[in-house]
Amino acid sequence: MSGIGTKCVQSGYRAKNGEPRQLPIYQSTTYRYETSGQLANIFNLEDPGYMYTRLANPTNDAVAAKICELEGGKAAILTSSGQAASFFSIFNLCSSGDHVVCSSSIYGGTYNLFKHTMSKMGIDFTFVRSDASLEELDVAFQPNTKAVFGETVSNPSLAVLDIETFAKAAHNHGVPLIIDNTFATPINCRPIEWGCDLVVHSTTKYMDGHAGTVGGAIVDAGNFDWMAHKDKFPSLCTPDDSYHGVVYAEKFGKEGAFITKCTAHLMRDFGSIQSPQNAYYINLGLESLHVRVQRHTSNGRTLATFLESHPAVESVNYPDLPSNPYYELAKKYLPNGSSGVVSVTLKGGRIAAEKFMEALKLFSIETHVSDSRCCCLCPSLTTHRQMSEEELLAAGVPAGLVRLSCGLEDPEDIIADVKNALDSVSR
Ligand SMILES: *Cc1c(COP(=O)(O)O)cnc(C)c1O
Repeated sequence: MSGIGTKCVQSGYRAKNGEPRQLPIYQSTTYRYETSGQLANIFNLEDPGYMYTRLANPTNDAVAAKICELEGGKAAILTSSGQAASFFSIFNLCSSGDHVVCSSSIYGGTYNLFKHTMSKMGIDFTFVRSDASLEELDVAFQPNTKAVFGETVSNPSLAVLDIETFAKAAHNHGVPLIIDNTFATPINCRPIEWGCDLVVHSTTKYMDGHAGTVGGAIVDAGNFDWMAHKDKFPSLCTPDDSYHGVVYAEKFGKEGAFITKCTAHLMRDFGSIQSPQNAYYINLGLESLHVRVQRHTSNGRTLATFLESHPAVESVNYPDLPSNPYYELAKKYLPNGSSGVVSVTLKGGRIAAEKFMEALKLFSIETHVSDSRCCCLCPSLTTHRQMSEEELLAAGVPAGLVRLSCGLEDPEDIIADVKNALDSVSR
């Protein structure tokens, strides 16, 4: 067993004698066989192998295997985006008439997907606090509940999920816990070690790390016993008519059922596959993930500590600060730090926020987070623009809130830039 940094660099692809040292990009839609029988066996899921890149590709599989090892899982798949990963993680388990318990502190895109789009498919969500107690969670369950979903460190509100409590609640009700681990990355937290069953990622953020490639991933811990809850998961535990009557949980067991169904069924039908070229870029990002996340995190902590001391600042939201309501949860689940993302609320609301952001030089105004360059966003001026002051407060996004994503620049330069911009606001 090697350390997490060695896995970042070496896991996934291994070159055999005389083969390319770097992961090859298999830029091919299709795969050649000598007999129709060989291909038929792959179609029948009797033999492993590739048939068509809409379902699977060797470059993608090597990168998925690396992310799988980083998270400590048993099987994994890459998807075209983080959104596709979140969608597949739920739709692989649920159909019309089913229900999911979900933390209310999740990414806005995930909230829209769940609350507005998936509800049109007949899948309903009940939202609960990320630090809800076991009793509060218990009452959110229904007989048709099939999964629990949350984010380790939420984007953008930076709430920390009480992973053990959520896992316990899920398992008491015979369903898996799914966690979006995008912000923490497996460098700062490995949810599977705390009882989580399925991990999803937007690899677009720290994993790629250079704002180059949109992508996603799903990792299965391989621990959830689908057959023990046969009635809840007919799509995994009863014959799939669209696949020659295969019963995924019987044929592929706890470790393989979920990801095999994702590949054979959902990728076949929805085709949200990562392009092999993009998978290659994500792998380049992963090779330095451990080095970069450490620097992003230390820059975030330095900036958050500085912000707390500045008179133009009303409040700072960063889980690693002792003043933060999630401090104890962060200490438990994220002992090395949460991420490089800090949010700050300025005295003087929207106007101050606008002036502050325009005075920043290293931080550019973007909808993105978590890449090598510093960037910032004011939700009340952009993503949450349509909301009134009252609605903004209810959503936990005060008008003067600015989300700052620390890049890999020198901490002295980041502080100098932010100090200069804050001073100009107070002037
Ligand atoms: C960005 C993001 C997503 C969506 O990922 P895309 O790759 O943009 O589709 C999901 N979850 C979190 C936490 C994110 O930050």
